[in-house]
Amino acid sequence: MLKVNNVTKYYGDFKAVDNLSFEVKKGEIFGLLGVNGAGKTTTFRMIMNLIEPTSGTITFNGKKIDYNLTDKIGFLTEERSLLTKLTVKEQMLFYGALKSLDEKTILSRLDELLTRFGIQEYKERKINTLSKGNQQKVQFISAIINEPSLLILDEPFSGLDPINIELFKSVILDLKKKGTSIIFSSHRMDHVEFFCEKLLILVKGKSVFEGYLKDIKRDYKIKNIIIEGDVRQADLKKIDGVIKVVKTARFYHVSIKDESYCKNVFEYLKTRNNITRFTLEEPSLEEIFVSKVGEAYGK
Ligand code: ATP
Repeated sequence: MLKVNNVTKYYGDFKAVDNLSFEVKKGEIFGLLGVNGAGKTTTFRMIMNLIEPTSGTITFNGKKIDYNLTDKIGFLTEERSLLTKLTVKEQMLFYGALKSLDEKTILSRLDELLTRFGIQEYKERKINTLSKGNQQKVQFISAIINEPSLLILDEPFSGLDPINIELFKSVILDLKKKGTSIIFSSHRMDHVEFFCEKLLILVKGKSVFEGYLKDIKRDYKIKNIIIEGDVRQADLKKIDGVIKVVKTARFYHVSIKDESYCKNVFEYLKTRNNITRFTLEEPSLEEIFVSKVGEAYGK
């Protein structure tokens, strides 16, 4: 289990991470979210032992993370960090050696992973001749060639098409099943919702929320009603308890103060014809994120 305990990081006088604490258990996918500059990368670098916290401690299975332990950690960084003049095989031999693996192990794992990612034919190809998506696959393979116990994924789906996103998702879920602890960071809230039961939202280096996704959704009072049919936006807006009405191609999305106002909207719909859909939905993580971050900025 990863334990980040009261960690603060200053760059000179600037506090990039402020008294941060969280835990990631074995086989758990933990979401670390925040707007640009919130302190996520700084946190990852401290976990990887690339920079030291100014104060606080970070342990993995009870031990301070040192060079031996980083052998069991994988890090997929947001920015590409490939040695693009090397071939895929050369790059993997280099990364694998950095993680204290012998050549035989690296090559057999590489064959397995290239097959899983459907890019066996690129093994001897120079990385700079591969497409963006295939480079992302190579980067992902580099991050997991050491079969990490802890894996940090920062925007793992960047540059991928929908088919390859599904492939990456299935690999990530397999790693979770095998017991890998995963920290998942992305600005795509739908991906965070897909993976993370538990998450933390960072604003200016400070946690403004930490907990289970299901709790954050339950406690967030505002709900959405989705309507398809013959209604008038102006009428919906006038209903007591309605905060906002947005019309998209097919639906009206009506936000209400809380679930108790649902009946007011329902009463109005009874006066209309041709209503083909009426559903009450939980707010999306995206809405909650925007609201939590907005609150923290005093908006
Ligand atoms: P993004 O989503 O844009 O990648 P982030 O959440 O990863 O952002 P960090 O890169 O951790 O944010 O940066 C947190 C803050 O610390 C930012 O204000 C950044 O400018 C500052 N910072 C990061 N690295 C350094 C450094 N080496 N020296 C000084 N300030 C830094």
